[in-house]
Amino acid sequence: MKPISSISYPLNKGTNRLRLILGDQLDINHSWFEQKDPACAYLIAELKQEQEYTTHHIQKTCAFFLSMQHFANALATKGHQVIYLTLDETKNHQTLVDLLISMIKQHNIGYFDYQRPDEYRLLQQLDQFRPENITVSRHESEHFLLPYPDIRKEFKANKHSKMEFFYRRMRKRLNLLMEGDQPLGGKWNYDADNRSALKAKDLESIPQPKLFENDTTEILDRIHCHNIKTIGRCGDQLIWPVNREQSLALLDYFCKHQLACFGRFQDAMTSNTAYKWSLYHSRISFALNTKMISPLEVINTAIQHWESHQEHISLPQIEGFVRQIIGWREFIRGIYWVNMPLYAEKNHLEARHKLPNFFWTGKTKMHCLHQAITQSLDHAYAHHIQRLMITGNFCLLTGIHPDEVDEWYLGIYIDAIEWVEMPNTRGMTQFADGGIVATKPYAASGSYVNKMSDYCKSCYYKVKQKTEDTACPLNSLYWYFISQHVDRFKSNQRMSMVYKSWSKMDGNQQNALKIKARQVLENIENL
Ligand code: FAD
Ligand code: SF4
Repeated sequence: MKPISSISYPLNKGTNRLRLILGDQLDINHSWFEQKDPACAYLIAELKQEQEYTTHHIQKTCAFFLSMQHFANALATKGHQVIYLTLDETKNHQTLVDLLISMIKQHNIGYFDYQRPDEYRLLQQLDQFRPENITVSRHESEHFLLPYPDIRKEFKANKHSKMEFFYRRMRKRLNLLMEGDQPLGGKWNYDADNRSALKAKDLESIPQPKLFENDTTEILDRIHCHNIKTIGRCGDQLIWPVNREQSLALLDYFCKHQLACFGRFQDAMTSNTAYKWSLYHSRISFALNTKMISPLEVINTAIQHWESHQEHISLPQIEGFVRQIIGWREFIRGIYWVNMPLYAEKNHLEARHKLPNFFWTGKTKMHCLHQAITQSLDHAYAHHIQRLMITGNFCLLTGIHPDEVDEWYLGIYIDAIEWVEMPNTRGMTQFADGGIVATKPYAASGSYVNKMSDYCKSCYYKVKQKTEDTACPLNSLYWYFISQHVDRFKSNQRMSMVYKSWSKMDGNQQNALKIKARQVLENIENL
């Protein structure tokens, strides 16, 4: 697809309103676009600033730029006036504000509008941008199910909120899977019926991921020409959806081929199906986070599909999916907004180590980490449990500084935008927020990985060993973590069993585990 800046100039005579559309505001159903205004120009721009605040996966940059171009084309096709600027055209503008000042001056703009950004960084930038003699207005993005003003009614800064209760209120509020004021089927949450590991007989029926073939050559040239630093790998075809049609096709594929086992295998991991790497997950997060599709249409489509296929899609599968979108996704956003900007500095466990280099290469003998990292470098994707219980758990147990952990997650995943990445990383995986998101740290030894995956079977390390040379590093690290944080967690009810087990171990065993864990930490780069 050609960059479309050529179709937008010269601007209509009398153009005096500029409306900014950020790369994650690609919602064609936004009320802005209900009417055509010849005096209004929509600005969509590839910006160096957005490429430099962190190092992105190369597929992520391609996906954003391609989606922005498609969106610009869709708007222009509907008869709106669009200015699309590529990196070639914005290269002399160090920041978004520099570009806006220049555009406003160049086109004699009197009115500037923007939608509320989802990132604190951009909200600050735009809320402080109030040039003289220009009328500036902020509009809602109209995307989320919990309206922005209601966030403060649901969440309090620095306070733990329980996702389950928030989710129940959202179910009632949106009247989803309800029978009157009671949950359909009598239970709010069917997690106990879900979360099975995959057995050998289950592997055959895992569906292939639905992949697209979007040409990246032009964008890759631009990325290289402007020396944009990236991570990961990208061929000349991008597999991710880059427009609304592809986003809807991905959703349709999920409903037809993955929803029936979504909840059941939600936490499972396997290395036996390299080409079926997304298992029963929807991979809809990029389409959602760029707003190409809305959470409500995702949920309604999935529920409609479930309603007409109840003979082979059980209630726990659809409930599990609905919970992720109206529960977890909205919950995480609420946590972000009531706690920013201080959330970004939280380091409750005083973690201070550097992220080992193998997070950028995948070269480690720990098979679980090798799998999750290599898949992330190859596809800019890992599913929730790989993020939480493989890479996240390792960083938690080894005390990696949350800034380093955040930076990695913010860069590597196709769907990573700070509002959703940070509370998941700093809060859910690293417990750096001291329990605002989670009631206890998601810490696990090798036995969890062994239970939920087949990774251990082909690992250099032995999952049943604790202190031997070839012992699974997670085993000693786990007990070391438990012992190091005894003062913090011993009175946490949800950890009482763990501390009971620790205190039952004899002193020699405890010492051997501690010595082994220290050796592992000293040798972290060579694991
Ligand atoms: P599915 O498993 O098919 O789930 C469906 C949808 O539910 C997802 O697309 C997503 O929109 C939503 N969802 C599920 N869990 C969460 C959650 N915990 N928080 C928010 N939304 C959720 N999600 C992102 O969108 N961007 C991120 O940057 C991101 N970073 C994460 C970092 C860590 C350390 C962890 C543990 C989780 C992170 N998540 C993030 C949440 C979740 O892992 C991804 O949303 C999910 O893996 C995306 O894949 P999917 O679309 O196949 O999801
Ligand atoms: Fe991971 Fe340990 Fe299992 Fe190896 S043995 S795959 S390091 S959990």
